[in-house]
Amino acid sequence: MGDITGFLKIKRKEAGNRPVVERIYDFSEVEQILNSEDRILQAARCMDCGVPFCHWNCAVDNLIPEWNDLLFRGDWKAAYRRLSATNNFPEFTGRICPAPCEHSCVLNIQLESVTIRENEVAIVEKAFSEGYIKPIPPTNRTGKKIAVIGSGPSGMAAADLLNRAGHEVTLFEKEAKAGGLLRYGVPDFKLSKAVIDRRLDLMVKEGVSIRTNMNIGTDISVQNIVNQYDAICIAIGSAMPRDLMIEGRALNGIHFALDFLVAQNKINGGESVDTALPLNAKEKRVVVIGGGDTGSDCVGTAIRQKASGVTQIEILPKPPMVRTPDNPWPFYAKVMKTTTSHEEGCERIWSVSTARFTGAEGNVTGVEIEDVEWQMTEPGCSMNIIPDTRRIIEADLVLLALGFVHPVSDGLVDELCVELDVQKNIKTEKGHATSIPKVFAAGDAVSGASLVVRAIASGRRAAIEIDRFLRLPSDDGSG
Ligand SMILES: Cc1cc2nc3c(=O)[nH]c(=O)nc-3n(C[C@H](O)[C@H](O)[C@H](O)COP(=O)(O)OP(=O)(O)OC[C@H]3O[C@@H](n4cnc5c(N)ncnc54)[C@H](O)[C@@H]3O)c2cc1C
Repeated sequence: MGDITGFLKIKRKEAGNRPVVERIYDFSEVEQILNSEDRILQAARCMDCGVPFCHWNCAVDNLIPEWNDLLFRGDWKAAYRRLSATNNFPEFTGRICPAPCEHSCVLNIQLESVTIRENEVAIVEKAFSEGYIKPIPPTNRTGKKIAVIGSGPSGMAAADLLNRAGHEVTLFEKEAKAGGLLRYGVPDFKLSKAVIDRRLDLMVKEGVSIRTNMNIGTDISVQNIVNQYDAICIAIGSAMPRDLMIEGRALNGIHFALDFLVAQNKINGGESVDTALPLNAKEKRVVVIGGGDTGSDCVGTAIRQKASGVTQIEILPKPPMVRTPDNPWPFYAKVMKTTTSHEEGCERIWSVSTARFTGAEGNVTGVEIEDVEWQMTEPGCSMNIIPDTRRIIEADLVLLALGFVHPVSDGLVDELCVELDVQKNIKTEKGHATSIPKVFAAGDAVSGASLVVRAIASGRRAAIEIDRFLRLPSDDGSG
């Protein structure tokens, strides 16, 4: 550890965001990158505390104190080597991970945590700009062929590691471009798609074959893939949205959040959009139902499309500003979060349930809400409607951001007859093996909708198991 009292002398300093008045006129990334000198100072704040709780709360087991120390010493190259040892895509997590590591940082008990996520992205961006991330194709090939189905972060991570292990990997994707929710869900203002293209380009140069516009189970049978490949990794995500089947649901103008986000992402990416009139919030009163991150992404997108007003509603109570006694360090702090999209101008309402949608001439005109109160019960908590609190929020566009329930079963899942768990996610044993021989699964398709860092971790673990499986001696002893 370089500066043993760094955390006492140096305050947390974030890179900051572009000003609201500027950024709402474009879809470019909101967050900036701190200059190298300040970044090194920020790394000096890491205490190397002995028991790195940051590491404990990082799904990919990032060696955080180690690369912070290397960064503090100005050895950016070694810091990148240490970072990339556990994370295939620090440029993704460094931009959009909610950074559970920072919640667990020991400094966070009394002071502000180390800027771990920003340090991560600074290290990887320096590595790209200095040119020491280069394609390194494997020197030996095993002759084994693997199909990875789904090109989100879990599929990309599995494909990357398996290729590096010398296997011949084909990454199949049903959309026109690879990247999964990173490309089509997460807005450009959080993650520029050039960042995904840069990584995919590297993977292709290292030997991964990417085949887009291939919906496995629809365009080509899964059985066909199973017959052709030595192992298969299913990484199809969890794309079935949760619906809200209340009065008025069939009115025009009520859409799933992801359809709205996909349309804008496709337009930004120069792709054609499926519908004749792409979903757009221009001059509309927008109500986003669901207070999570997907909802927040809808807020930022609607603001950029020049909505006349945006309201985001949430059934849960407003979170506290600071940790409560039942949510102590080092666990993820369940506290009030204001995203950059919220800063751009939206009304937020908590503890409200949606009673019905109102409409005229087949179009939505409002969302009728009512207040609810939450009570702690044993076990869990219960929700009661507060009588006589019904009121209508006027709306021309309603976006349902209520999460995702499980992977889409039409096509691949149904054809394969793969065993599912009670939530209808793909069931795997510890080693990511499914109920079908030589078929493995990873990411949100297994865990349910989660985070990029967990998808990468899952893809990595699946790759290790697939590699182990392929190296097992076969029954006839041929190896
Ligand atoms: C709007 C939104 C914003 C988010 N923001 C964040 C964030 O800021 N930070 C964060 O950590 N997480 C965020 N997440 C969650 C994160 O994006 C996911 O957890 C992660 O992408 C899951 O990765 P995955 O590889 O398992 O699946 P996905 O990213 O969903 O990728 C699955 C891929 O499989 C493809 N596919 C599906 N079926 C087939 C088939 N039959 N044949 C071929 N291809 C197929 C899909 O087209 C898709 O490309 C967000 C999610 C959403 C929806």
